[in-house]
Amino acid sequence: MTGKQVSTKIQAPQGMSDILPEEQLFYKKVYAVGEKIASFYGFKEITPPILESTELFEKGTGEATEIVEKQMYSLKTKGGDSLTLRPEFTPSLARAYIEHGMISLPQPVKLFSFGPVFRHERPQAGRYRQFYQFNLEVFGSKRPIIDVEIIYIYYNILQALGIKKLIIELNSIGDKECVGDYKKILLRYLKKNEGSLCADCKRRLKTNPLRIMDCKQDRCKQIVSGAPQIIDHLCKDCHNHFKKVLEFLDELGLPYNLNPCLVRGLDYYTRTVFEIIAEDELGRQLGSLIGGGRYDNLIKLFSRKSIPACGGAGGVERIIAIMKERGLNPTINPGSRVFLAQLGDSAKIKSLKLMEDLRRAGISVAESLDKDSLSAQLKNADKIKAPYSLIIGEEEANRDMIIIRDMDNGRQTSVKIDKVVEELKKKIKSIN
Ligand SMILES: [Zn+2]
Ligand SMILES: [Zn+2]
Repeated sequence: MTGKQVSTKIQAPQGMSDILPEEQLFYKKVYAVGEKIASFYGFKEITPPILESTELFEKGTGEATEIVEKQMYSLKTKGGDSLTLRPEFTPSLARAYIEHGMISLPQPVKLFSFGPVFRHERPQAGRYRQFYQFNLEVFGSKRPIIDVEIIYIYYNILQALGIKKLIIELNSIGDKECVGDYKKILLRYLKKNEGSLCADCKRRLKTNPLRIMDCKQDRCKQIVSGAPQIIDHLCKDCHNHFKKVLEFLDELGLPYNLNPCLVRGLDYYTRTVFEIIAEDELGRQLGSLIGGGRYDNLIKLFSRKSIPACGGAGGVERIIAIMKERGLNPTINPGSRVFLAQLGDSAKIKSLKLMEDLRRAGISVAESLDKDSLSAQLKNADKIKAPYSLIIGEEEANRDMIIIRDMDNGRQTSVKIDKVVEELKKKIKSIN
């Protein structure tokens, strides 16, 4: 640098942030708990590519959805393909299920995924353009017990993370047998009140009238509160399916609310839709941590076969925000047992070799290889509260010796470098 000011400041893109070292613990914890519980229930991990063909989401997520209309990061490759950063996992997993012939495996096929998704949303507090999801999907079963199993697993994952006070919001949005008739009835009602709807909802009247049910504008909420509810217009099969779901939830003792306005934003949902919401001490809702539902018509969009399916997505950043708010900090690994100090180039390279021996022996070690002053290094050893320091000075390096220093009482012993791992193991065992 010649002292000239750099004119443009390069920063992370808006709505996307670095997961800093201290944040990693939270992500790892959510993954570890999710992975353990999902695996126990027979889910297998799958990691689809971050980019998929744009068509997959246009078809799968649905062209009339907010995600596809406004929020996708799409790009043209040099070869002319149109690709999109995944805004959600479900269409990718449905594609993978078909592409890898999982249709011929014993059904149902249970899959989970963890990773970032991308949505170009208006920037606001708690909204990110890159965020992580923990996804569960079950392909090949239409039984209501599967809907309940997914809700139950998510509920248990949140509980295992220490998040109490959860409530499940639940609705059924029917299937192609009944939702068409309901939409007509709903439209008739909404059109009568069209003048009072917000501009977005006026548009939704033509594209996706169901979405008006969960508009957040007060004027729309008021109209929706008097609207006919789908629950009263379900066909017999949908009605029975939903009844079973509720019975199972009752038997598991899970707390739920029937919410006629819960429709979820995506085209592919059929029958059960749910969210799991955290509440504070006063029962105020703190936002949805998990969302999902059944999507019996999605696979048919990509394949000739009709395969029922059900799944959900957990918002990892939202889960982490609640963990932080409630002081649920993941425990940090115990600090380094040993600090390695050195003096001179020969000692530095011997230190690096020794670190690998310590790693293989499972002894955690901290070092300051870039430092030369012994006293500065030993100060670091004090700072991290390592019970032992290892010191290789120039003289020790020449004789292949090393000093073990007990940091509590300053007592020092000198041993051969190739014996130090053994020696340390004995000492560490005695303080454990
Ligand atoms: Zn509205
Ligand atoms: Zn139905």
